[in-house]
Amino acid sequence: MANIDLEVLKEKKVCPHCDSKMFACESPQVHVGDGLGWGSDVLFICLNDHCSLFLKGWNHIETQYGHRASYRYMELPGSTESNLMMVGNKDAFKASVVDPEDIKKQNTRYQQEKVATVALDTAVEDNNLQVILTLLLDEAAKNETREMAIVKLAQLNDIACIDPIRNHSFRNTSFEQKVNMVISRILQANYKKECLQCGEIIKAQAKKCMHCNAEF
Ligand SMILES: [Zn+2]
Ligand SMILES: [Zn+2]
Repeated sequence: MANIDLEVLKEKKVCPHCDSKMFACESPQVHVGDGLGWGSDVLFICLNDHCSLFLKGWNHIETQYGHRASYRYMELPGSTESNLMMVGNKDAFKASVVDPEDIKKQNTRYQQEKVATVALDTAVEDNNLQVILTLLLDEAAKNETREMAIVKLAQLNDIACIDPIRNHSFRNTSFEQKVNMVISRILQANYKKECLQCGEIIKAQAKKCMHCNAEF
C-alpha cells in the first residue's frame, strides 16, 4: 500500500444504485495468469449492505450460476465506468478500505528514511547516533540501509545506543542477532556489561549491581 497516491483518495464518488459514499479500497492482488489486474492500486467500492445492487445480486447469481455470491458496485479512480466486483460475503473489501492518515504516516516515514539514509554516510564523523538509530529501528526501512546502519553503529561505538535498541522489538531475528553482537562489542570496548538481573549498564568488573544489588 506504500505507493498509493493521496491525491487519488481525495476523489468523491457516490454509488448510483444507493447514493452512498463509495470507499477507496486497496486493489486485490491479482495473479499474473489472471491478466493485468485493474491497473490501479485503489478501487472505489460501494460497501453499503443495503445497496440495491448488492441485495439483488445474491438472487441473480444464485439463479444464474448456482452459487452463493453477490456484487459490489465499483469504479476506478478518475473514471465513471461501472464495474461489478463479485463478493462471497458482506465483509469482503471492508478490511481493505484505505485510510488517508495511514498513507500520510507512511509517506512521512519514507521521507525520514530518505533524509536519514543520506546522513548515514557521515554519521560516524558527525557523531550522529540518532540517524543510525532511526534507520536501525525502522522496520520498514530498506534492508541494505539497515545493514549499513549496523556497520556504522559498531564504528561509532557509543554506549548510549543500547537503551533505545533494548526497547525495540526486532521482527527479523537474524538482524537482531547482528545488532546484539555489535552491542556486546561496544560494551566490551567500553569496559561495561549489562546487569543480568535489571539490564542496567554497569562496570565490566562489578561483582554487585549498583542499581538492583544483584550479585554475580
Ligand atoms: Zn451502492
Ligand atoms: Zn542490576
